[in-house]
Amino acid sequence: MRPEILFPLFAPVRSLPGIGPRLEKRVENLTGSKVVDLLWHLPCGLIDRRSRPKIAEIRDGEIATIEVTVGLHVPPRNPRLPYRVHVSDSTGEMQIVFFNTRPDHLLKTLPEGAQRIVSGRIEFYQGQAQMTHPDHIVKPEEMPSLPLLEPVYPLTAGLPLRAIQKAARAAMNFLPDLPEWQDPSWLKARGWQSWRTAVQAAHEPQTLGDLETGAPARARLAYDELLANQLALGLVRLRMRRLPGRSVAGDGRLRKQVIAALPFALTAAQTRTLDEILADMTGTHRMLRLLQGDVGSGKTVVALLAMLNAVEAGFQAAMMAPTEILARQHHATLAPLCAAAGVRLELLTGREKGARRAAILDSVANGEIDILVGTHALFQEDVGFRALAFAVVDEQHRFGVHQRLMLTAKGGVGTDVLVMTATPIPRTLTLTAYGDMDVSRLDEKPPGRTPVVTSALPLERLNDVVASLRRALDRGAQIYWVCPLVEESDEIDAAAAEERNKHLHSIFGDIVGLVHGRMKASEKDNVMARFAAGDIRILVATTVIEVGVNVPSATVMVIEHAERFGLAQLHQLRGRVGRGSEKSSCLLLYQSPLGETAEARIRIMRETEDGFRIAEEDLRLRGAGELLGTRQSGMPSFRIARVDEQRELLAAAYDDAMLVLNADPELVSPRGGALRNLLYLFERDEAIRYLRSG
Ligand code: ADP
Ligand code: MG
Repeated sequence: MRPEILFPLFAPVRSLPGIGPRLEKRVENLTGSKVVDLLWHLPCGLIDRRSRPKIAEIRDGEIATIEVTVGLHVPPRNPRLPYRVHVSDSTGEMQIVFFNTRPDHLLKTLPEGAQRIVSGRIEFYQGQAQMTHPDHIVKPEEMPSLPLLEPVYPLTAGLPLRAIQKAARAAMNFLPDLPEWQDPSWLKARGWQSWRTAVQAAHEPQTLGDLETGAPARARLAYDELLANQLALGLVRLRMRRLPGRSVAGDGRLRKQVIAALPFALTAAQTRTLDEILADMTGTHRMLRLLQGDVGSGKTVVALLAMLNAVEAGFQAAMMAPTEILARQHHATLAPLCAAAGVRLELLTGREKGARRAAILDSVANGEIDILVGTHALFQEDVGFRALAFAVVDEQHRFGVHQRLMLTAKGGVGTDVLVMTATPIPRTLTLTAYGDMDVSRLDEKPPGRTPVVTSALPLERLNDVVASLRRALDRGAQIYWVCPLVEESDEIDAAAAEERNKHLHSIFGDIVGLVHGRMKASEKDNVMARFAAGDIRILVATTVIEVGVNVPSATVMVIEHAERFGLAQLHQLRGRVGRGSEKSSCLLLYQSPLGETAEARIRIMRETEDGFRIAEEDLRLRGAGELLGTRQSGMPSFRIARVDEQRELLAAAYDDAMLVLNADPELVSPRGGALRNLLYLFERDEAIRYLRSG
């Protein structure tokens, strides 16, 4: 249960003045539905009205607050012209200008002969100083209520700045005095204030410097957020360690057979990571390990050998892929190897239905099947294993901490979990997203790969590209042609791909095939199979082929509108080629002129194939929030912290969380209690459930 002291912060935004039913929806969309969401919605600008010149001193473009005497009202002769009010002070004269206004209202706010203070932007129009629609008009005695410094907030259509300002100001009155959760000496060393003071200061910037990520108030709040994240992951990790595991130690006989059947020798990195995994499996605590390996680094065989360890010990293993195509591909890769060792392998996806599905479920339940490969269909309720000891989740960047936990729950007592991701993530981010896991890195590619030659061409040279494809086809090449990502919409992507397919088909004929997300799964399989078999030589595709597809004979990758893809995505796509011993190439077709960032991305792609370096560059270019397309990627999204700029704080938060949890794993000390508030504040509540006294 959330502590009572935090209740006001979790009240709906509509409880704030200025947020009626109409604006409520907009605020919700912009920041979230609770008062606390508004607290994390920090100003992005500052209006400074402190300049108080005389009329003779005003400058074009400045924001000024001026005391004036109201003079003549001059209504327009024509309603499209502005309404003008002459004003003056001892030094000169200017005009206040209104468009589409109600004169009766103006006569009230600016009565002739009265003293008024007006604040707004000065413009010179035909040599004449004027202020159009002042932001504020007050009587001299009301001056104290005129805000001389106004925060500017990120807004959304239909949401006036005034409303957000008012609501945020009101939210400041809800701020409880919370017991300090940060270490006092750390606060002192950093020059940071209390949480409450920091929130207020962040919303009341005094200088432009106060808007920067590194400003003390913001840095404190960012650190709070990072600490909440690290603490939550730390609690999950502790909890995992405490769960009873079982020792799964095979005798190696199946592994020996499979290794003998492999057409290659394991790389040193594969052997090392496998040893790490096997050590976890043999150990008695529950394994939750991340296997990070760039595209083509050979994760599948590592996973298979680990699964065989479970089978040797008399248990079952499961492997889950994010898509149907991948699940089928894994099954196809593993089938001959499993057959060589007499291991019983089965496939279960959404497409296995009715009697077929029932039969599979039966044999899984009674242990006739050793290894089950599939999509998330694997973890549906009615799938019961006889003795699942080991689960592999492939291409995991689409799941979050929460789903990982559900997965472990599925296995019942002691199921070890290996998560595999092909998305290279910088070390810092690994910490924020996978801080609950142990990490193994496959940092070496199998030998014999020739580097992929990457080049870039503007789209206008499409005809040259077609000619070079013809030459490549003559040499026997197989080609991927990836079509632009237009929007987050399968439909539109599919249309673009269909168009390109038609075009290429008209040139190259039936050797062109098409695969996109809108096609039926069976159609997709069919096309993929024909591409793998070499019947299709040019595969036009949307990004459905991004993750994990393995057709080693394909050697040319064309990416159309490469400027629309992120670095990580380009890297994933390029990873589809260069998988065999043939020379491979990647052609980035772009729409010119290229923006600065897009140009940098293309340059980096041409410079390196090192996924980890690309990930670092990606982080630098666009910031952590976006790195993997946050939400669906399972990457935590931070409201305040900027992981790309605040790595040092992140590292400190990690250390801090470790220290805290070592000394006080149940968060029962006074600081522990305060830290519980912090977890609630940043909505990391799920972690609190892992405390015994939660
Ligand atoms: P990923 O890590 O991207 O999932 P895969 O497991 O699909 O990579 O492996 C990519 C390709 O490399 C496959 O064709 C696989 O058979 C091959 N491969 C894996 N390990 C080795 C190795 N040690 N030597 C040579 N080829 C290997
Ligand atoms: Mg893979």
